[in-house]
Amino acid sequence: MDMQISRQQAAGGASGHLTIDLGALRDNYLTLAAMAPTAQTAAVVKADAYGLGADIVSQTLFDAGCRNFFVAHIDEALALRLRLSAEARIFVLNGLQPGNETSCAAMAVTPVLNSLEQIAQWAAHAKKLGKPLPAAVQIDTGMCRLGLSPEELGVLASGPQLLEGIDIAFVMSHLACADEPDHLSNAAQLSVMRKAAVAFPDAPVCFSNSGGIFLGNDYHNHLLRPGIALYGGAPSIARPNPMKPVVRLDLAVVQTRTVPAGSLVGYGGSFETAGPTRLAAIAAGYADGLPRSLSNRGAAWYNGVRLPIAGRVSMDSIILDISALPEGTLTQGSLVQMIGSEQTLEDIADDAGTIAYEILTGLGRRYRRTYIQPGETPAVASTSVSHK
Ligand SMILES: *Cc1c(COP(=O)(O)O)cnc(C)c1O
Repeated sequence: MDMQISRQQAAGGASGHLTIDLGALRDNYLTLAAMAPTAQTAAVVKADAYGLGADIVSQTLFDAGCRNFFVAHIDEALALRLRLSAEARIFVLNGLQPGNETSCAAMAVTPVLNSLEQIAQWAAHAKKLGKPLPAAVQIDTGMCRLGLSPEELGVLASGPQLLEGIDIAFVMSHLACADEPDHLSNAAQLSVMRKAAVAFPDAPVCFSNSGGIFLGNDYHNHLLRPGIALYGGAPSIARPNPMKPVVRLDLAVVQTRTVPAGSLVGYGGSFETAGPTRLAAIAAGYADGLPRSLSNRGAAWYNGVRLPIAGRVSMDSIILDISALPEGTLTQGSLVQMIGSEQTLEDIADDAGTIAYEILTGLGRRYRRTYIQPGETPAVASTSVSHK
């Protein structure tokens, strides 16, 4: 059997083709890093690097100079630890769960300590091992999610011995409204952070996620902590997105048909054709991360032409109204674009009533994934290629 099939052929019949541009990822990292030349730039790679593949994303960013990586869960950290150079520090944002001290210390995974209990746990483990252990300390500056409360900070200030044995890599906090540059919470949180940081005079400060980086130099401190902007998502809802797109999603047509006026399309018959209508079923649905809320709202694109979703999104397929295209333009195996140059992540998220984060992290496991290496030109099938 001839295994030398082209990528276009390979995409045919698959749920779709997810292309991840690692060159754009690297460029986004360098762009963010250049915005704060005196700070270091970490990467948030939780949730499998927002759905794009934590191993390959982290390695690409490591090669671009990134040395600090954040995940949410201990298991994400342990998996990444096996793949990344020992030079990389890996932090667990959700903190130190009881019982994780041994694996964290043994695997050189650094917990973010979010409470006095977690500090006590980690300090006790350091004592047991007879050596200092590294940690980040998180302060709640107003988001009310994770981190030490003002009262807990007060306890630490009057009991510095509580931190004995803990090597503080940095103190951190998280902005609740960083994507809204005019939101008053931003400056308020920054001011709380500055006051709190006084209690840790020697520790660097890690404060800004993607949105925070764009709030200006005051917000940069010593270590940036972007996620979404690395992956091409808009860091701010108020300004045009300066990041390069990283993700493209092309979906294959699996069947086309022409139906008369008055036809009811899809589950529940929620779309009724007004006249003779050409339809195409494409091979992805809500099980592939295209939310059911796109039913009768969203669209796919082909060569600059919007192809509205007709009826409900199914588990494995979506029906498009392709009447705007000349007959015969789309046939089985043709690719239409769901995310890319014609429809951004934010566009599809808006249509679905959600945010780019949720679309990205929900991208299904059934897509055929292609990673474009930095410097490589995208040789994959695009929607401007016809497949007849
Ligand atoms: C997810 C997360 C980030 C990254 O946020 P983005 O908005 O994706 O840049 C940074 N810090 C913390 C604590 C997070 O939970």
